[in-house]
Amino acid sequence: MIIKGKDLSASIKEALKVRVEVLKNQYGRTPNLVVVLVGDDPGSVSYVTGKAKAATEVGIANNTIRLEDTISEAELLALVDKLNNDDAVDGILVQLPLPKHINENKVIAAISPEKDVDAFHPMNVAKLWLKQPCMLPCTPKGIIKLLHFAGVDIAGKEAVVIGRSNIVGQPVAKLLLDANATVTVAHSKTKNLAEVARRADILVVAIGRERFVTADMIKPGAVVIDVGVNRDTRNGKLCGDVDFEEAQKVAAAITPVPGGVGPMTITCLMENTVEAFVNRMNKQ
Ligand code: NAP
Repeated sequence: MIIKGKDLSASIKEALKVRVEVLKNQYGRTPNLVVVLVGDDPGSVSYVTGKAKAATEVGIANNTIRLEDTISEAELLALVDKLNNDDAVDGILVQLPLPKHINENKVIAAISPEKDVDAFHPMNVAKLWLKQPCMLPCTPKGIIKLLHFAGVDIAGKEAVVIGRSNIVGQPVAKLLLDANATVTVAHSKTKNLAEVARRADILVVAIGRERFVTADMIKPGAVVIDVGVNRDTRNGKLCGDVDFEEAQKVAAAITPVPGGVGPMTITCLMENTVEAFVNRMNKQ
């Protein structure tokens, strides 16, 4: 089974579009997302364009503020402060990575937690680990939705997450744990990685290494979630961290790249923006 994130994403966006329309009638305006892009890194430009397109599709008001990569940290922080205090703004996303002279942690911490639709603010991260209601980071949230969509009963399963980044590996491990999986987090220092990976009923791979996970690292019948986005050196196309062609012969279900996790990340960002809007409206 190919787990088509693109299809799930399309159906969630359809439902969101209706919800946004209802909210507009209820509150007199639509949710509003501001994306801040510093510099012109092609990858970041493409991500930001995708986010703006999805927002427009579901009826979320959106604006991308493009800044020169020479902007100072103080100027960027001042912009974030202005957006925090703008009542008409519900979600703020500062596209990462930022130029080296700007401290990313400082900028993320400056975003108001209630408008932090990426859920990277330390307050949202802490709440996730304390199992308190909070904005969930988009890629891990999307992965759990994909598993539900594929009919996977997570409870009691052996889950192995390869990769321990703050934005994917660690939070998805926590969400799998919260869903009662038995979770192992592997990384570049893990010994016998193939053996560890083969234990997994649910294998999540988020390392950024082209076709790194081969079929022999997958337990027959496992569900494989490939988060990686890489350029295939054979043909220049996008590919994941998993050797899809061979892995699909062993796995019971697997996400493709592109069309798997990627669209879900963007769709969850839209959900988070709507959630931020509703939370703010209910506070007023
Ligand atoms: P990251 O911050 O670079 O972290 C990579 C992780 O992989 C690290 O924990 C690293 O281990 C581990 N790793 C690297 N090489 C390894 C190896 N040979 N064996 C085992 N572990 C290894 O990456 P990220 O931000 O999590 O992103 C991972 C991939 O997902 C990238 O391709 C990225 O583009 C993609 N991504 C996709 C989406 C989406 O929506 N589709 C969203 C986010 C990211 P150490 O900690 O030991 O260094």
